Amino acid sequence: MDVSFLINSLNDAQRLAVTAPSKSMLILAGAGSGKTRVLVHRIVWQIQVEGLSPHSILAVTFTNKAAMEMRERIEKLLKSPTQAMWIGTFHSLAHRILRRHATKAKLPDTFQVMDSNDQLRLIKRLLKSLEIDDKKWPPKQIQGFINAQKDEGLRASHISDNGDFFLRKMLQVYQEYEAVCNRLGLVDFAELLLRAHELLRDNESLLQFYQRRFRQVHVDEFQDTNTIQYAWLRLLTEGRDNLFIVGDDDQSIYGWRGAKIANIFSFQQHYPNHELIRLEQNYRSTGNILQAANQLISHNGNRMGKQLWTDRGQGELISLYSAFNEQDEAYFVVDRIKQWLEKGGLKKEVAILYRSNAQSRQFEERLMTAAIPYRVYGGLRFFERAEIKNTLAYLRLLSNHDDDPSFERIVNLPTRGISTRTLDNLRDLARSQQISLWQATTNLLEEDFFPTRAANALKKFKQLINELAINCEGLELFEKVKLVEKQSGLIDFYKKEKEDRGEARIENLAELVNAARSFDYHLEENEVLSELAMFLAHATLEAGEMQGADADDCIQLMTLHSAKGLEFKQVFMVGLEEGLFPSGRSIDDVAKLEEERRLCYVGITRAMQQLCISYAESRRLYGKESYPSPSRFLREIPAECVQDVRIRANITRTVGTNKNQPILPLTNQYKAGEKISHAKFGLGTILQTKGDDKQEKVQINFYKGGLKWLILAYAQLERV
Ligand code: ATP
Ligand code: MG
Repeated sequence: MDVSFLINSLNDAQRLAVTAPSKSMLILAGAGSGKTRVLVHRIVWQIQVEGLSPHSILAVTFTNKAAMEMRERIEKLLKSPTQAMWIGTFHSLAHRILRRHATKAKLPDTFQVMDSNDQLRLIKRLLKSLEIDDKKWPPKQIQGFINAQKDEGLRASHISDNGDFFLRKMLQVYQEYEAVCNRLGLVDFAELLLRAHELLRDNESLLQFYQRRFRQVHVDEFQDTNTIQYAWLRLLTEGRDNLFIVGDDDQSIYGWRGAKIANIFSFQQHYPNHELIRLEQNYRSTGNILQAANQLISHNGNRMGKQLWTDRGQGELISLYSAFNEQDEAYFVVDRIKQWLEKGGLKKEVAILYRSNAQSRQFEERLMTAAIPYRVYGGLRFFERAEIKNTLAYLRLLSNHDDDPSFERIVNLPTRGISTRTLDNLRDLARSQQISLWQATTNLLEEDFFPTRAANALKKFKQLINELAINCEGLELFEKVKLVEKQSGLIDFYKKEKEDRGEARIENLAELVNAARSFDYHLEENEVLSELAMFLAHATLEAGEMQGADADDCIQLMTLHSAKGLEFKQVFMVGLEEGLFPSGRSIDDVAKLEEERRLCYVGITRAMQQLCISYAESRRLYGKESYPSPSRFLREIPAECVQDVRIRANITRTVGTNKNQPILPLTNQYKAGEKISHAKFGLGTILQTKGDDKQEKVQINFYKGGLKWLILAYAQLERV
């Protein structure tokens, strides 16, 4: 068979990595050097040349999007479907194993995956029932504690409090939380990993089965694995020396979630026969972009160290824009995007990357006004929207009556006259008898505990759920979703909401039916898993990654974290301000600051042709106004790679000689950046003008009142 297509498009080091005989390997290399490409080519090489069955391949990566792309790339090279291959995120693979062996994992068949919001809600309820003051013991902190223990592979019973009061309390909640989750058949994200690990660790024959099955285990973005993920990989490859990992210590950005760069060192010790290959040529970015990234990351102390070069030429300089405020920043970015599109660029080649989800709104608004389609990854994600979660809660309750978070969510939605008091009665009984809310309902109804009205309302609810279950039988997945949306009364409920909002919600519900219709789970022959259960878990695990059609041409908005592994011709990295990026929490902590710098390195290295960085001199975020200084990272990028763009090209021209002053060609009196005072609104800064003569309007950012357009002739401004 001619496999030259597999190796012709590789450089020497890459070829070595792809074609090496089966053994453990570490590909350690910087961004854009072809690590993911090597991994994909190696999998295809092993199938086509070494004769491995697709069935015996396991490939792990970090996001669903990355997993999907990997599968597509493999299918394209192989020219055949890859159903039999296990490709996915750690969480989705762990979930798959748990579903297949639920009983052995000591889980009910109907177990449901909880997202972090549901987890937090459950913890809050638990604190109440334990009579623990949630002011002194913030639920979020407890959630962080529990997840961190699980990431380290620790159950409450493994940890000793050593007489520490704080730890004792935390452990008490952790223990109770474990008990409640077990009782209700609920599994949080960290639990998926921990339990999948325990399952294999404690079941020798099962472990051997999977060890024999997966003859090659591949991991992308290895630098971001945590303790339990690495332990799981070790179990699967124990004594077999078949772990192939690619990674870049400079791109480790999930330390805050327990990721350990040190896993790379551990790998080197645990797999002493491994081969290490370094890749040094970057194929993604132009010279200026790469130089900026290299220089920035050299400010980190704790590095394995590597050099990256490119033969793509210097390319354009990096643009740096200093905005007056966050709105001006969004104006600027969208103007630039328009220019990109006018020149024939595609929308999906453009990404706006930000540090915090809350920053997306400004860009969304501007893009919407400019009628440019966009897609937000993360943020209020599709599967996190209320209407979607409500529908899913119905579906979940159909699958598992004991799913309390879902019960709570929909028992009175649409409203059916179930009062808080009735609910409190249910909660009390559930707590005292350690049963689910559904069971409590059944018991109290049997006892005739409630007055007629409350009893009728509850009976109606139970009847609805039972009827839905019957009506759903034998239907296709998407038909089930459709039926539940309608018969639950949710559609009618949203129809009554204010026009726009209700309409948008109903559109989303229709989109959910589409999502279910196109849900394509790669089931193997004779793998009998409920499609609905898989879909629900998918919705929880991969929230946000199914909204709209992936292939649509639209501007990509996402956090820097979710941009890992991706590449775009034009990248906007926005909000480079002290306190935002690097984030306020990391400024005083060297390790955290270095992680922020790595995140900045990830951001810069997503850009192929053009990179535009911006910051605002004043910013309103989380309802607070601040006047941040520019990010320290800007000073760490070499000046010769950067070009200042102070002024928006299409409405402005430079006048005067002082390059540092932003100046607009305001037709008459004012320049952008000038401070003025207004009788009613007080002090403010001139941003821009439009129109002329008597109709000339001026946009001002008032310190107190925010952005306003005023007609200059009437505004009676005074210079200050
Ligand atoms: P990251 O660290 O960001 O995940 P990576 O090391 O995984 O990056 P890839 O995404 O595999 O890098 O590759 C970066 C880009 O370079 C891709 O567009 C890829 O197709 C291209 N590329 C990689 N190797 C070669 C090569 N030998 N010839 C041509 N293009 C290549
Ligand atoms: Mg990659």
